[in-house]
Amino acid sequence: MAGLTTAMELTHPRHGGRFAVTIYQLGWRIGGKGASGRGPGARIEEHGLHLWMGFYENAFRLMRDTYTEAARDPATCPIATFTQAFEPAPDVAVSDRSPGGDWHH
Ligand SMILES: Cc1cc2nc3c(=O)[nH]c(=O)nc-3n(C[C@H](O)[C@H](O)[C@H](O)COP(=O)(O)OP(=O)(O)OC[C@H]3O[C@@H](n4cnc5c(N)ncnc54)[C@H](O)[C@@H]3O)c2cc1C
Repeated sequence: MAGLTTAMELTHPRHGGRFAVTIYQLGWRIGGKGASGRGPGARIEEHGLHLWMGFYENAFRLMRDTYTEAARDPATCPIATFTQAFEPAPDVAVSDRSPGGDWHH
């Protein structure tokens, strides 16, 4: 994410093509800790929780800009827009079990 964010900024039209950017990746799989792929039956295979807190203002702006620029066709792409990629979740909590066995949020 950090590398791609940097690449996105350096290739922004406001720089007038000043930078030639090549992204290098260690190993065969792109995405770092945010990597995502599909296995048998096209089932998405991720490695963990995917949750963005509301205060990720820069990250959300980047993703909005990215989806706008990508201009995916909703007719052919299952996740074409920013609002299809992110689903609001207003009641997120971290839970822990108390010594008495019940859950605290
Ligand atoms: C299981 C799990 C669940 C998570 N869930 C969430 C979540 O719900 N919400 C959230 O906000 N965050 C979550 N995170 C954290 C988030 O994924 C990371 O903070 C974020 O992806 C880190 O991005 P990064 O670009 O800083 O580093 P990385 O994603 O680690 O990227 C570093 C990249 O550099 C590459 N690299 C390393 N060495 C070299 C080299 N010598 N040459 C070229 N490339 C190299 C690596 O291969 C990798 O692709 C989670 C992380 C994990 C592991």
